[in-house]
Amino acid sequence: MTEAVSRRRLLVSIHDVTPALEAPVRALWSLCMAHGVVPALLVVPDWHGQWPIERHPLFMDWVRARAREGAEIILHGERHDEVGSPRSWQDQVTAFGRTAREGEFLTLSHDAALARIQRGCARLADQQLVPTGFIPPAWLAREATHDVVRELQLGFSEDAHTVRVHARGVNPRTVRLDAPALRWSGRGTARAVASRLVADARWYAWQRAPLLRLALHPQDLAHPVTAASVRRDITRWAQCRHVVRYAELA
Ligand SMILES: [Zn+2]
Repeated sequence: MTEAVSRRRLLVSIHDVTPALEAPVRALWSLCMAHGVVPALLVVPDWHGQWPIERHPLFMDWVRARAREGAEIILHGERHDEVGSPRSWQDQVTAFGRTAREGEFLTLSHDAALARIQRGCARLADQQLVPTGFIPPAWLAREATHDVVRELQLGFSEDAHTVRVHARGVNPRTVRLDAPALRWSGRGTARAVASRLVADARWYAWQRAPLLRLALHPQDLAHPVTAASVRRDITRWAQCRHVVRYAELA
């Protein structure tokens, strides 16, 4: 590894950490471990309003054990989907092609976002978990959500293109770091093949990006094509980059 390469950084995370997706979440964790990578865990307190973490103590034991092993815990919405939050036409434009109604924070005002993030943090605290930041489902949120994250003194939030590090203390300010994100879609063979092609193209296109995100989703393992592409990318990106924690960005 050259010095120039080693300065390029990689954030690895597992999205959609919920008891609803326990088996593939655990499989992704094992895959990361096999490469010596400790990923951040993006926890959803009540996936689709049907999987409250409080009712799944064994799964939460597993999450706490991973946190003790060094995994950063990140709040990832409250329920993840958009049920009960109708989109305006502007929201439709923003979300076009991005998600199948999984943008919980897409439509939320400041106060609505505040209420959900506060509830989410409280539910994690009840599980002895302290989130270090907030990542909206599908990276879709209005500016108001990022304002809330800063006001609540969570360390960072993300959109599709950047990580926003919210500095605390007497001079609170937000620094935006460009951070392209690799992700896949295992929903059907056509999407799976397309996302493998995109991932392969990005292996070349994003070599020089100073900071890169590898965003693993349990659903990636649903199709053998995306599962193989994810395995290959963890191997090759982790080999040539310095894997960092979000806390190191502050
Ligand atoms: Zn998600």
